[in-house]
Amino acid sequence: MFDLTHDPHRRYNPLTGEWLLVSPHRTKRPWQGQVEKVDVQTLPDYDPECYLCPGNLRAGNARNPDYTDTFIFDNDFPTLKPDTAVQRMEENGLLIAESEPGICRVVCFSPRHNLALANMEPERLRVVVDTWIDQFRELGSRPMIQYVQLFENRGAMMGASNPHPHCQIWSNYSVPTEVMKEQQAQLRWRESRGSCLLCDYVRLETESRVRVVDENEGFLSLVPFWAVWPFETMVLSKRHLTGIEDLSDTERDGLAGILKRVTARYDRLFDTPFPYSMGFHQRPCDGEPHDEWHFHAHFHPPLLRSASVRKFLTGYELLANPARDLTAEAAAERLRQA
Ligand SMILES: [Zn+2]
Ligand SMILES: [Zn+2]
Ligand SMILES: [Zn+2]
Repeated sequence: MFDLTHDPHRRYNPLTGEWLLVSPHRTKRPWQGQVEKVDVQTLPDYDPECYLCPGNLRAGNARNPDYTDTFIFDNDFPTLKPDTAVQRMEENGLLIAESEPGICRVVCFSPRHNLALANMEPERLRVVVDTWIDQFRELGSRPMIQYVQLFENRGAMMGASNPHPHCQIWSNYSVPTEVMKEQQAQLRWRESRGSCLLCDYVRLETESRVRVVDENEGFLSLVPFWAVWPFETMVLSKRHLTGIEDLSDTERDGLAGILKRVTARYDRLFDTPFPYSMGFHQRPCDGEPHDEWHFHAHFHPPLLRSASVRKFLTGYELLANPARDLTAEAAAERLRQA
């Protein structure tokens, strides 16, 4: 049998049906690219120029209230609009388009400009989790909303133009591509094996432990076997839950706790505010039970070797499939030690 720690191989992602090329022998090659010094500026508690800070003016003359915990508003430049009628066009099976109604919101985690999930008080983070659940319920109950995507871009490297701690919620009529891929895979697994794909995966990783990064009573954090990004992780509920609104009172605290621990590990890894895109995957809000779905979060951080050396998806990865040198097991070990 080939050796996962030395031999080039490819790994299968059972959630998407996609493959990934792993070349562990290449981690020994010398790094010749440039390593830049990272300018970690100290941010103030309040920034008069920030459009998310309490009391400040946003686009279109809206003024933020003097909020004390979370603050939610409809995106001033929304990607989707709620009053779009659902229509479809098709020409020769080649030109296919559908109109897409939806609602885009912004959730500020805290009035303090210089906080992040990693350094918020657990009680304040719990309020963020409660806000996510309220938003999931409210948006998901609307007939034109079938999927609620909660996500956070952190850091300029991931396109976050403002360091103020916040996330976005895009909720829309169709089920998005990545979500649909995972839904079909979980459905096939359930139909062929009679169990939940991610419950089975949680059990396997809990036994082997090589890719586990952290855990608490309700949640497991791990580098998935099929991770594409160098320090990609997933946070999985240990109990079979189809959506965020099924979390018990203690599980809400557990989710807040594991998110804080994972993001703090990231920040410690290269001693820098670690950039990432993170978000939750869960059942659509189309009125069906979707028992095949297992609630989880993905973290996709771009950093590779230091605070300034990032991974790019280039040539082979854009045209063939993603590739990595650092194994998932080695990345998990680095994160456990951070
Ligand atoms: Zn701010
Ligand atoms: Zn499950
Ligand atoms: Zn997922």
